[in-house]
Amino acid sequence: MTRVTVLGTEIDSTTPNEAVDRAMTAMHERKGAFVITPNAEYLLQAKTQRDLRQISQSAFLSLPDSIGVLAAARILKIPLHQRVTGIDFAFSLLKKMGERGRSVFLLGARQGIAEAAADRLRELIPGLVIAGTSHGYFSSTDEKRICERINTASPDLLIVCLGSPRQERWMYKNASALHVGLMAGLGGTLDVFAGNVDRAPEGWRKIGLEWLYRSIREPKRITRILRIPLIIPVSLRYRVRGK
Ligand code: UDP
Repeated sequence: MTRVTVLGTEIDSTTPNEAVDRAMTAMHERKGAFVITPNAEYLLQAKTQRDLRQISQSAFLSLPDSIGVLAAARILKIPLHQRVTGIDFAFSLLKKMGERGRSVFLLGARQGIAEAAADRLRELIPGLVIAGTSHGYFSSTDEKRICERINTASPDLLIVCLGSPRQERWMYKNASALHVGLMAGLGGTLDVFAGNVDRAPEGWRKIGLEWLYRSIREPKRITRILRIPLIIPVSLRYRVRGK
């Protein structure tokens, strides 16, 4: 694995298998490490928000979740070989955890989604222990209570799905206070596990148009999604001017 910097954000050039193996080791060491899965939107925001760049430096793994990140790297002639999506990483990791009887706490999404995701994961991965669940719409008072619940459960993995960049900031802020093996910020993954939203069909994913499929299915995302192609001119300008 090598770590590269794309538009100021640190990203790991790795493979899905290597990422899962490293995550299993970090989980065992229980050092408060966290995984982020930056996409093109994250990179665009991180250009002007320094804390997001710092978070990528502190991340144990920073996986290139989107084709936009790969496109930026290619324009900037940075060697970044493969996309590793958060959802595929999460599912492979959970499968491996299931083989070893490890535990996961699911945090995030709307009321009822984390529970539905837990039910589905119990069916799909029988050896996996679900250590707890919580929705992701909490006040600062609730947050203290949720952190206490997580610490009591002391899971091997905490999946954090609060939307980006909230989830990355949340993990960074709480990294030293939480008694967990490893944390991973995984966006809409709980909705997908719960069957609440579909992933794009394979053909769309292969050609890197998952974002377009999602915008057709969820039109309220359109203004956010229309920003994604901006990564191309921003990277070209960066290549020419170095900023
Ligand atoms: N979410 C949440 N709390 C919030 C905002 C969002 O739990 O305050 C959840 C939302 O319900 C969804 C997930 O975060 O399940 C990811 O949101 P989104 O699909 O926007 O993911 P992103 O594209 O930001 O990774």
